Amino acid sequence: MERRSTRQISVGDILVGGSSPVSVQTMTTGPTSEIDACVAEINTLADAGADIVRLAVPRRADTAALTEILPQVTVPIVADVHFHFERAIEAVEAGVQKIRLNPGNIDDCDQVQRVIDACRQSGIPIRIGVNEGSIVERRDKQQRREELAAVFANRTFGGLLALMIAKLEEYLELFDRCNFHDICLSAKSMNAMLAIEVYREVADRFDYPLHLGVTHAGPRDTGAIRSIAALGTLLAEGIGDTIRISYAGDSRDEVTDGIELLCSLGLRERSSAELIACPTCGRIQVDLVSLVEDVRAKLADDIDVPIKVAVMGCVVNGPGEAEGADVAVFAGDRRGIIYVQGERVASVPEGEILDRLLAECRSLQDRVRTGDTLLGDKAVSIIPPDPLPLRPTVEGTAASGDV
Ligand code: SF4
Repeated sequence: MERRSTRQISVGDILVGGSSPVSVQTMTTGPTSEIDACVAEINTLADAGADIVRLAVPRRADTAALTEILPQVTVPIVADVHFHFERAIEAVEAGVQKIRLNPGNIDDCDQVQRVIDACRQSGIPIRIGVNEGSIVERRDKQQRREELAAVFANRTFGGLLALMIAKLEEYLELFDRCNFHDICLSAKSMNAMLAIEVYREVADRFDYPLHLGVTHAGPRDTGAIRSIAALGTLLAEGIGDTIRISYAGDSRDEVTDGIELLCSLGLRERSSAELIACPTCGRIQVDLVSLVEDVRAKLADDIDVPIKVAVMGCVVNGPGEAEGADVAVFAGDRRGIIYVQGERVASVPEGEILDRLLAECRSLQDRVRTGDTLLGDKAVSIIPPDPLPLRPTVEGTAASGDV
């Protein structure tokens, strides 16, 4: 897909915007002042694949801790500042790689200007973050808002959209006056449709890189849907340069789900196994749900080459859906037929499927590492196996003989 053209900023060694790849970021959940725990959390998030990690620094003790935290981590760190401009300046002095600021909750323009000056001197960018939930009045821009509201009058979120755009314009006026353009923008909403609308509008109006996010998305099960609906739509339109999926939960999930979203949209190459699994239906003849969970966990532990693995519940649709899989199993009648790159290599009882499938994955991984097998070198197509013998139903008829 064609990506929107933007300016580029550097967050430590991570480039954001321009032609750089879309990065994934998250936030720590514990107090920054608890140095050892904070370092451990940052490094865990980096291990999970976070490109950038943001820390809250509401107290002086938090910015004081930065000088000890930063030398112990390798991932670029962003200081998240609300209300106290002094925290931003202290964080810059401590050596963070970016500041996140909501100018609307800093008391006056002079304070924002002092943060801009500090960032300019240290050569680090600022994210100007507008949130639907924290748009506060700072100066009277009523007329401009009314004009924008008229422009967006026929849109579902016209008034709120107008307010968010007007606020961003207002903040950017100040940054323009300071001739500071080392900027990234965000305009987050709790509502996926408003997030889509506002980011589209921001993308049309400004050429700064965009940090995408849905704010306060909730726990992972519902928050993932809300976030992916908004971020996936925008990314598929070429909008967005760095993303944060936010959950009320483990930040590692924000990272893994963000990476999966980018991989699913072809915006990032996979570096580990991709699992395809059938959704199961009444034709199922093994405990496929448990098998899929076990395979997923083992692949995460053991495989770090981008092989495609398919776990299919039967031979009906399985071969077609698993086409392209490097390793595949088709279950049926308490057995599994295993294929490696299109060739049938085994037929094993249900209790041996997991071990044999993983052994084949590890073996393929070894051959990929030594160069004996190249992934993607040939089209892998699964030849449908002969239908497996069908278990009799309680009535004594075949379970799914008409498939
Ligand atoms: Fe049902 Fe077979 Fe498709 Fe799985 S692969 S959903 S068991 S038809």
